[in-house]
Formats: sequence, C-alpha cells, structure tokens
Amino acid sequence: MDHFLYRDGSLYAEDVPLAEIAAAVGTPFYVYSTATLLRHFRLFDEALEGTEHLVCYAMKAASNQAILKTLAQAGAGMDVVSEGEYLRAKAAGVPGDRIVFSGVGKTAAEIRTALSGGVRQFNIESEPEMQVVSAIASELGVTAPITIRVNPDVDAKTHAKIATGKSENKFGIPIARASEVYALAASLPGLEVIGIDVHIGSQLTELAPFELAYRKVAELTEQLRSEGHSIRRLDLGGGLGIPYARSNEAPPLPVEYGALIKRTVGHLGCEIEIEPGRLIAGNAGLMVSKVIYVKSGEGRDFLILDGAMNDLIRPAMYEAYHDIVPVIETAPGAEQQPYDIVGPVCESGDTFAKQRNMPKLTAGDLVAFRSAGAYGAVMSSEYNTRPLIPEVLVHEDQFAVIRPRPTFDEMINRDTIPAWL
Ligand SMILES: *Cc1c(COP(=O)(O)O)cnc(C)c1O
Repeated sequence: MDHFLYRDGSLYAEDVPLAEIAAAVGTPFYVYSTATLLRHFRLFDEALEGTEHLVCYAMKAASNQAILKTLAQAGAGMDVVSEGEYLRAKAAGVPGDRIVFSGVGKTAAEIRTALSGGVRQFNIESEPEMQVVSAIASELGVTAPITIRVNPDVDAKTHAKIATGKSENKFGIPIARASEVYALAASLPGLEVIGIDVHIGSQLTELAPFELAYRKVAELTEQLRSEGHSIRRLDLGGGLGIPYARSNEAPPLPVEYGALIKRTVGHLGCEIEIEPGRLIAGNAGLMVSKVIYVKSGEGRDFLILDGAMNDLIRPAMYEAYHDIVPVIETAPGAEQQPYDIVGPVCESGDTFAKQRNMPKLTAGDLVAFRSAGAYGAVMSSEYNTRPLIPEVLVHEDQFAVIRPRPTFDEMINRDTIPAWL
C-alpha cells in the first residue's frame, strides 16, 4: 500500500496534487511520500517484534538525507556501502553505532573514516579486507566489530545482475570455508568477531531462497559457537521484493518474512539485523514526467517524454517493468491504445515500455512512473548533459524540494580546461 491515490480525478502524493508539484518544480521530478516510507519501515520493525533487532535501511536504494532523517527518526539504522554513504548518513544525524558498513571493496580510506567516526560493524567480505581492517584498527588503537559475510550458494531466483548469493558471485566467503576464515579473524588483534552476515540478492519474490540461506546460517552459528566464537548478531541482509506490476504480482509480506526469520534463527538468541532497501523506498516514490510529443511511427505510436534513461535507468539496465499511469485519472471505459513510451536520449535503449496500453494522451499531459523510489534517483546521471532531476518529499499537505535541479551553469562550470587549450 502507498499514499499515491487519485482524488477528484487527479493523482495525489498524500494530500498534495502531483500537478501542483509539477507546476512548482517543473518536470521531470522524483516525489517521495513520508507516510509510505514510514509505513514500510514499521512493517519490518513490527515483523521482528519480540526479538532484539535493528532494521538498517540499505540507503543505496534512495539516499537523500531527508529520507534518511525521516527513517532514522523512526528508529532505523543504516546500511552503507561506501565512504560517501557513510558520511551522508552521518550528515543526516545517524550515529555511528547505528551504521553498518557493507560492500565488497572497502578501501583503506573508507575503513579509516568509519573507524574514526564510529561504526556498528563492518560486514567483512574477504580475508585480505579483514587484514586491512585489523591493521587500521590497531593503528588507531581501537577494535573493529565485524561480522563475516558468508555466501550460502543459494539461487535467489532473481535478475542475474542483482543475485548475490551463488558461489559464482563476487560476494562473501564460501560457507564451506567459514571455520578457517573465522579462526583467522579471531587471531587478528584489531578485530572483535560478533556475528555472521548474509545477503543473497535483491527483488526476491519468494521466501524459499531466504529460508534455505537462513537455515544454513543457523547451522553455521552453532558450528562456530562450538569452535569458540561468540556469535551474537546475525545480519540477514535485504532483498525482499516489491510488486512492480500491481495487477499480477504478490511478493511475500514483511510479516511473513519476519515469521520466517523467527522460525529459522529465532532459537539462537542472537540480535537480528536486516537491511531492506527496495521495500522501504521503492513504492514510496514516483517519477513524474511530461509528454513532449506523440509521434506516429510505422505501425506504432510513440509517447516521447521529458524523462529519460538517465533519470530512471532500471528499464534499460534490468529490463525492469514500471507501471506508468496518467496523472489525470482515466475515465472508466475511456479508449485505450498501445504506445511505445520513450525518452529523448539518443539510444534505442532509452525505452521505458513497448506497446503499453494507455489512455489517449497528448503533448503536455503528465504521467507517473510507480515504484520508482528505489534505485531511481540514486542511479541517475547527467548523460546527454541532462540535469539530475529534482527530488521532492511530501509530508501530509506539505512538500519540499530535497534536491534541486542544478542549473546548466552549475553543470557546465564543473569542467576545467587544461592550460594547453
Ligand atoms: C543492496 C543491498 C541491500 C538492499 O537490498 P534491497 O533489495 O534493496 O532490499 C542490503 N544489503 C546489502 C549488502 C546490499 O548490497
């Protein structure tokens, strides 16, 4: 459920008409709903009630500080995958002891920044990384709390580019080598081993792969404890999918996922961490765009929008489906026709949908891409020297621009010309 509903024939974000935001900030833009962000966070938080836990929002999904602050004030921790994300979370007021540092290639500089500023734990992905974290911690005179990410060799049954839990993926250490790697960690002076981490992929639409992975983690917990390690925290990753096509998809609910966690690892008495990103932000955001032209082609009509693949890359990159709806509600029984919905960028990959049935639209009409809150704005670029589009946050009847559209001067003046030119 989200808070983007039609009222009196026009699409609203909470109590604000999207047309009003479009008039104020111009198109295209991203808009997020505070109530939806909070609702999704609380679904996870409540699903783990009765177990010591922390929901660490995977901020790579949508990392604007206004979003981080909204979630942090509700009690969320953050999962970060770079120094930039770490500093952004800090800037949004998240204390270090609520920031988990994940990622397969943390550099020495990133590790130093997090150790100096405070960190809940590092999720370690390899032995060389473990050595570097230990060395930097020793040099700074601190101990680094760590979990080790294990790769359970489970097929997440998701898009190949976002599956991470098979042995051929670059993530974690093979679960079969865990004993050896935990023994090495225990021998290093700068580390305190506190738990196990696993994350098998994103946009999972079934619970079975989680169940397989978490059962392996439960077994491993008992094995490592018997080998003398204190395993008291389990980071179970993120990855729960969302319905992109509302008509025919029903991925598992957070409450079912929470029950699965309690069933598979609840008996171990560990503190539970989860790192959902997409499910918190995905359906809490829309991209709103305007039709520039309706163009008739050979046997097909094109809707040419002012939004493009540089603004929302998921269709081009992952063959992702987004519901695209008119901002003015379609009258019941109104005529529909198929359109290819495209942006103005100079590649055929700049296609959002092919032969999508839509009501008849004309130049100037607004459309909204649903489920664009996660992996939308954060993956946008200035390809074709198109400005990053603004982000807007709605709270009840208020809205605020949380990232303005840069001016062309700002963009162009970032280049510097060498002396020889
Ligand atoms: C991307 C990622 C997540 C979040 O995945 P979602 O599918 O957005 O929930 C969580 N943990 C790690 C380590 C990740 O890389």
